[in-house]
Amino acid sequence: MRFDLPTLYFLAIGTLVLSSLMTFWERYARPLRRHELGMLAGAYATLAAGCGLALGRSLFPGAIGAGLANIVMLCGYLLVFQAAARLAGRSHVPMIGVILGFQVLVWAVGGARWQTVIWTYASAFPIGLVSGLTAWELLRNGRLRVLRSHRIAVAFAAMHCFTYMLRAIVLPVLEPQGGAGLLALSSFATMYEGVLYSVGLPMALLALVREEAHDQLLQASHTDYLTGLGNRRWFFKEAERRIGSMGADGRTFMLAFDLDHFKSINDRFGHATGDEVLKRFAGFVRRSVGPSAILARIGGEEFVALLPCRSDVEAAAIAQQVVNGFAAIDIGGEYGEDVKATVSIGIAELGCDGDTLAELLAAADAALYRAKGSGRNRVEPA
Ligand code: GH3
Ligand code: MG
Ligand code: MG
Repeated sequence: MRFDLPTLYFLAIGTLVLSSLMTFWERYARPLRRHELGMLAGAYATLAAGCGLALGRSLFPGAIGAGLANIVMLCGYLLVFQAAARLAGRSHVPMIGVILGFQVLVWAVGGARWQTVIWTYASAFPIGLVSGLTAWELLRNGRLRVLRSHRIAVAFAAMHCFTYMLRAIVLPVLEPQGGAGLLALSSFATMYEGVLYSVGLPMALLALVREEAHDQLLQASHTDYLTGLGNRRWFFKEAERRIGSMGADGRTFMLAFDLDHFKSINDRFGHATGDEVLKRFAGFVRRSVGPSAILARIGGEEFVALLPCRSDVEAAAIAQQVVNGFAAIDIGGEYGEDVKATVSIGIAELGCDGDTLAELLAAADAALYRAKGSGRNRVEPA
């Protein structure tokens, strides 16, 4: 079986058009990435047009066909680069303008005299450069780095950069020895890799935005919408994991928080002010218990924290600091009133007041109940 260059060109055009349509269609399912997906769909369609022009370049007079094909293809790669940058919230419009302007100048000045040299070697350089920049832009995207298809997308962009850099830099050195055979082999290899790229990169980028959306949904299902803390479901999952993975050395405490007379805050100042109190409390406790604590809102005005402490004295001191500090905060109501709220806290220690998460929570709740009974705005150990 033999594949000639035009067959590979037709294959690339077909796969690029399909990739463009699939990416365009995906825009409707991913409203948050609508802009980037639209840009990518445009990029693949532009690359397909570039391949079409390359195939029929001899129909144009002089170097016009080759120049046009190279510039249109470069526009496609620049759009891929800009879309990759937009995935990280960045934009490179001035740099894109410089690269494109430079290549137009190369063809305008040297096209007529050195058409073959520019087409064979020099036109590959900006494509390799832009593909390398795309790989780099994807690689340094910290938010997407955790997703599985991220590496695949980077690999496809990097492979394309490598192929075109070989053609632009290594091929001119080897060509005098290799002759026409080497040139034909290089054209075939470049086009073959191009076909793989035209399927692989769009598939990897589609998988990437789908994984990203899935991750956002998962994150939302674990988060309390009002306070931004973890929710009940998240807490039980995380706390079980923490308890399961704990070494013998550390001590772990459960703090159960319940805002005092919260119903009357809602009744006196309105629900919106009640929400504001919950948000302020969440922020205040987050800072007080530190980053190593697992903190969640598990009910209306009920919160829990699982935190490592060296001693019960340290755990009680943290809880007391929350009680005192929160009572001193003036939240301020919608109509400028002074809104003050207080909190009661129950503390239980893992291994001492309970061995499982359920036992620990029951013990902390019982202590909290006693704190309420003894006048609220206080800490009670189990
Ligand atoms: P106690 O000191 O005994 O805990 O009294 P309390 O009023 O705080 O307790 P109660 O369980 O009677 O009332 C809890 C209130 O919390 C009732 C409910 O309207 C309110 N609440 C629950 N979720 C929210 C919320 O998301 N926003 C606001 N504003 N209020 C909420
Ligand atoms: Mg309650
Ligand atoms: Mg309450």
